[in-house]
Amino acid sequence: MTKLLEVNDLRAFYGKTAALHGIDFNIDEGSVTALLGANGAGKSTTLRAISGMIKRTGDIKLCDQSLMKLATEDIVRKGVAHVPDGRGTFMQQTVENNLQLGAMTRRDKAGIAADIEMVYGYFPILKKRRTQQAGLLSGGEQQMLAVGRALMLRPKLLLLDEPSFGLAPLVVREIFDIFRRLNKDEKVSILLVEQNASIALELADHAYLIETGRIVFAGCAQDIKNDEKLRRSYLGY
Ligand code: ATP
Repeated sequence: MTKLLEVNDLRAFYGKTAALHGIDFNIDEGSVTALLGANGAGKSTTLRAISGMIKRTGDIKLCDQSLMKLATEDIVRKGVAHVPDGRGTFMQQTVENNLQLGAMTRRDKAGIAADIEMVYGYFPILKKRRTQQAGLLSGGEQQMLAVGRALMLRPKLLLLDEPSFGLAPLVVREIFDIFRRLNKDEKVSILLVEQNASIALELADHAYLIETGRIVFAGCAQDIKNDEKLRRSYLGY
């Protein structure tokens, strides 16, 4: 398997306080990797560290090239698209403008138009709502728009922070089915941060469990699902 992302001895800091204490993990090209753990374990911090949004040390390599000296916008240009918790869509803008804004780093007009149609293909409800303000969408639709906007970057790696948060179970299922299709059909690799371990493990190939800034278990998602003791100890189900 080719490694898309390699993280070594990653430490991250809020001011002087360390929130990650030297974590190591890899993401195989084409895979879905889940990062699971309780509230405050360091999951969102890990995504922020990859995107260069907080102070960090250690090394993070994408396709063998270190991201450590790059600014966030250059990390985005390298193909890392971050869908933060809280989603970060432009509420006053229409759905379609949000998608256009997602393609800000691109110049290929025809490719952008084709990708907007690709996003509408995966999320037909967004096509119906294309002229509506993003702020008027339901929670599920906003999550779809946030993912759609990230896809407009044609990312190699999609970082998803708690995509299930606040959504009804049926909507969560629908969105996770679309993640699966995006992974299989568009070959987008995904790093998925979730508190909803059960649904994350259904989608993921590999998973890492994180506790207070340290990785406490790494393995294939199927093994974690089958390990009742591990699930009860770390994932609470
Ligand atoms: P959650 O699901 O609650 O977001 P998480 O696993 O994503 O959990 P993080 O948000 O990464 O956890 O938080 C890891 C640690 O860093 C926690 O101790 C948290 O209090 C701290 N932390 C997170 N954001 C900040 C911040 N902006 N300033 C200071 N400390 C922070």
